[in-house]
Amino acid sequence: MPQAASSPSPVIAALRSEFRAPADEQAFLRHHLATTHAQLRITLIVCALVYLGFNATDVVWLGYTQQTAMLAGVRLLVAVAALGGILLLRRWPESIRSTRLVASLAELAGGGGFLLICAMRANEFALHAISMAIMIIVFYIYIPNRLIYSALIAVPTTAGFIVLAAQLGQLREVELGTMATMLALTNLFGYVAARRYQVLLRHEYTAHSVLQNLAIRDSLTGCYNRRYLHQQLLETEITRAQRYRLSLSVIMCDLDHFKLVNDRYGHHGGDAVLQHFAHLMLAITRDSVDSVVRYGGEEFLLILPETDLAGANLLAERLRVALGGAAIPYGDQTIRVSASFGVVSVDFASSAGSAHQNMIRAADDMLYAAKNSGRDRVCCLQLG
Ligand code: GH3
Ligand code: MG
Ligand code: MG
Repeated sequence: MPQAASSPSPVIAALRSEFRAPADEQAFLRHHLATTHAQLRITLIVCALVYLGFNATDVVWLGYTQQTAMLAGVRLLVAVAALGGILLLRRWPESIRSTRLVASLAELAGGGGFLLICAMRANEFALHAISMAIMIIVFYIYIPNRLIYSALIAVPTTAGFIVLAAQLGQLREVELGTMATMLALTNLFGYVAARRYQVLLRHEYTAHSVLQNLAIRDSLTGCYNRRYLHQQLLETEITRAQRYRLSLSVIMCDLDHFKLVNDRYGHHGGDAVLQHFAHLMLAITRDSVDSVVRYGGEEFLLILPETDLAGANLLAERLRVALGGAAIPYGDQTIRVSASFGVVSVDFASSAGSAHQNMIRAADDMLYAAKNSGRDRVCCLQLG
């Protein structure tokens, strides 16, 4: 189910480039988890192949020596670390933490291995500097990690590289200074580019969430709309209740004599009542468990997973009493209304039949029974 952001346009922290509210950030990461895994897997494979492939340059520069064998060992270790990362991702496909762990370990292994290789091939620091610049870009852009983690690994790796170049590289001071400046700039540009990318991804996610919410919610009341009910919601909840053999209840409710409210207070007065009733239902039901659907004009459907008939009846009564006791403010007037409720429940632990197929129709029948027996009341039925 699409997650509504905690605010219409969630704030992105400037330096971290993450949503400031942890709930928004978690929802974003979860939304992107499959893509993140795919990107990370590809990057790990490519990095392992590049490290192994560069064995060829060791042979060309050093011939078949003991040093070449040691270099091959280091390259193999980096490739094995990448492979281990891929296996970890496969082991915990749903975990955001493991993604970060694998990304950070890959950066540490790649950076550490690279510094060792540089130390062993100490005559070529000018060429190594180019590889270092590429590695910085890979850390910031291609390995999907928290930006702050990438920076915390890229900057010390760069510093370690400069120290090694100063100790072993036999470079002139001006060459070393230029190299250090260029690599510092590469870090800066890598960070800025990654920051823009991260912010862009979050803006795109926000726009996507807004559009998705518009598509599945009713604009007046904020409740789910009937299209979402029939496209996804009802089937999802019935399937879940069947699989785990749970109770599922629905409540159909309809405001009493609502036409008279419109006649007396105008359409805006009627809208205020609809909004009040919707807020009441959204407040009384369980967040992220129950669903409130605007089924028709002044008719609402509540879907209550893991709720038996007694529980659903209790909830309907609480709603009836709360609505009946409310003086709904409208300008300098107050409006009083009541509603009728039809409650239906199926216990999937004992009902293997097709009773659930008629749940909404049965709830509608119960609602009309409530209307016909005087309105402002609850009528219940156990199905199956
Ligand atoms: P009953 O007790 O039998 O349910 O009577 P009722 O008057 O509530 O039912 P009826 O179906 O006759 O009238 C429903 C009214 O709801 C008519 C329609 O104009 C009004 N309505 C539907 N959608 C909206 C809306 O979005 N805003 C407002 N203000 N009124 C609406
Ligand atoms: Mg009505
Ligand atoms: Mg009606």
